[in-house]
Amino acid sequence: MIEALAPGSTIGIVGGGQLGRMLAQSARQHGYRVVVLTGGERDTPAGVIADHEYCGAFDDADTVAAFVNDADVVTWEFENVDLAVAQCAQAAGVPVRPSAAVVATAQDRAVEKAALESAGATVAPWREASGLDEFTAAIHELGTPVIAKTARFGYDGKGQVRIDDPSQIEAAWEALGEVRVVIETVVHFDRELSVVVARGLDGVVVDHGVMENGHQNHILDTTRVPAAVGEPTGQEARRLARLIAERLDLVGVLCVELFDSAEGLLVNEIAPRPHNSGHCTIEAAAASQFDQQLRSICGLPLGDGSCRPAAMAQLLGDLWSGGEPDWSAALANPRISLHLYGKHDAKAGRKMGHLTCVGSDAADALQQVLEARQALTGR
Ligand code: AMP
Repeated sequence: MIEALAPGSTIGIVGGGQLGRMLAQSARQHGYRVVVLTGGERDTPAGVIADHEYCGAFDDADTVAAFVNDADVVTWEFENVDLAVAQCAQAAGVPVRPSAAVVATAQDRAVEKAALESAGATVAPWREASGLDEFTAAIHELGTPVIAKTARFGYDGKGQVRIDDPSQIEAAWEALGEVRVVIETVVHFDRELSVVVARGLDGVVVDHGVMENGHQNHILDTTRVPAAVGEPTGQEARRLARLIAERLDLVGVLCVELFDSAEGLLVNEIAPRPHNSGHCTIEAAAASQFDQQLRSICGLPLGDGSCRPAAMAQLLGDLWSGGEPDWSAALANPRISLHLYGKHDAKAGRKMGHLTCVGSDAADALQQVLEARQALTGR
């Protein structure tokens, strides 16, 4: 018998960003209390709608203890954090879902790739290097072009350098900060895919289908669901995501990012939390990725995650460069849903919100969100 954490219990979210905000919105809808650990910032997207926002650093013992003592379960909206919070929660008997072990795997690209391979997934040929000699040898072994990525704390293309020619090796090593790195072969993919999967305490696994993602400057720009892939590729992507969730003994939500290439499906990386590419599940599925996160970490049955055809366009701070975007123009299309994350400072490249549309098919939905986004600036 699984004892569920009933509504009225408190969800502790590590991280104060937009993914935490949308989880908090789902938790509130379901009648839960919410507390957020921000890592230092105040009035964060998640914190402003939580019952309490704990603003100390992720390794500040007093803040972490206060946050943990106020929570009935701890979960993540951001994984690149000190795991002191998980240790503190474990010591206090507060469940951490996904577990610290899953988060630690996702924090380190070398550990992550090894775990993916041992789960039975294929990844691009890769090496790990901790010094310039190892780095140089690895690149010669793999053959250029390669992408070198810092093993820890990289996201949105940060901590990554592409090396097309061996003459660039030393400069790349310096640019990466002379830290432990993973080097991988550049994959010539047809498209980038993701599968967001939830696994409950009872081991039941539910996914939202296959998303197809477009990036701009390494930042996710658009998603459409379903992806424009054939049935066998779609089934294989879902099988891999489910397999990885099972092998990691996941409780919670996991996003698996894949390259669809001539060599088949290669897993790029995993994130132990909801993902931007799953934003459209809010409108497209009976249970969104945030609902599934809440349900799984609370020991409740998972909902129906299957998606109607839909698309999402990210809204970056750049859209504010000419003044306030024209919201009325975007919302003139009644099928468009607007999500803004409550961030005040619209810096270039900063994720400020997104638009979603449920359409007659995914291509139609994508066209509608792109037109709506264009209408925001008239450009
Ligand atoms: P990541 O931080 O690993 O998700 O990488 C960010 C983006 O860089 C990916 O979404 C891809 O567009 C691109 N990328 C990363 N690794 C590779 C690779 N091995 N081959 C080709 N493109 C890559």
